[in-house]
Amino acid sequence: MPPHPRASCTGLNSVLGSNTHSAQGVCPAFSGQVPLHRVNHQHPRCYGRLSRSRATSSPSYLEIVKMAWRSSGTSNAELVENMWRNGLLKNAEVKEAFLKVDRAHYAPSFPYDDSPQPIGHAATISAPHMHASAVEHLLPYVRPTDESGPRPAPRVLDIGSGSGYLTHVLAELVGPRGLVVGVEHIVELRDLGEKNVGKSERGRELLRGGRVRFRVGDGRKGWVEPGEEGSKWDAIHVGAAAAEVHPPLLEQLNSPGRMFIPVDDEGGWSQHVWCIDKDAEGKVTQKKLFGVRYVPLTDAPRH
Ligand code: SAH
Repeated sequence: MPPHPRASCTGLNSVLGSNTHSAQGVCPAFSGQVPLHRVNHQHPRCYGRLSRSRATSSPSYLEIVKMAWRSSGTSNAELVENMWRNGLLKNAEVKEAFLKVDRAHYAPSFPYDDSPQPIGHAATISAPHMHASAVEHLLPYVRPTDESGPRPAPRVLDIGSGSGYLTHVLAELVGPRGLVVGVEHIVELRDLGEKNVGKSERGRELLRGGRVRFRVGDGRKGWVEPGEEGSKWDAIHVGAAAAEVHPPLLEQLNSPGRMFIPVDDEGGWSQHVWCIDKDAEGKVTQKKLFGVRYVPLTDAPRH
């Protein structure tokens, strides 16, 4: 039985305000087996980072909420600048990508608040600081790769694409030879993501060129793109909390590759984001990042 991540990792990474993405909590290599524990479907919707316990010196929940408010703006540019100033966005390439994608095309209400917003079907567009953290963690694996390699590259999978916002941001980063596939288990949300990307000329260009694609499927099984069987994913983003690191996701992760995935903690009452790396030799290591609240990665609702 492999150790549960919580048992083998030390400490949380940062919460709002200290978005260091440090190597804190690095785990020893693990066997490639995945933690399996109970599913919790009780979290309704709240997709930001959570504070650590009161015993630590990290910000309280109230401070986190205040920081999120401080990052809110009246335009996309202002939201991005505020996140930059508050240290919630640290990488200039990622900042550039965020500036290119207007969140108003994706969030039906309060698009420039640093908070999650409902998008229908019990789903939510995650808070901008959460998206920033996800992209910054995945960045080394979503940058354009060298011209001589096979196409498409890099290949990025966005599971639970919802509004399509992050799928679009990732597509801005992968470059002209790259591919980003958003997978949704609700057809209407697959369509919503595509529709939202199509609201801008730039988005339409990305769709036309096939750099961004939206698919319907159960993200727990990963995704095999027709005509690209056998190709692995350089980066996998999971936008909903998984009961475990589902084996097909780990199997479909490239060597090297990285996965950013929120996973229910043992007992199912809380969740943490895990950064899972597969190195060039296929060795898997995992790093526990921070506590979060995401909607669960589930079966599709029955109509
Ligand atoms: N990244 C999205 C987050 C949407 S919320 C955004 O910021 O807009 C999480 C999404 O995961 C929901 O859209 C939900 O429909 C989807 N989801 C949940 N379980 C899934 C599954 N098994 N397969 C694919 N998508 C799933």
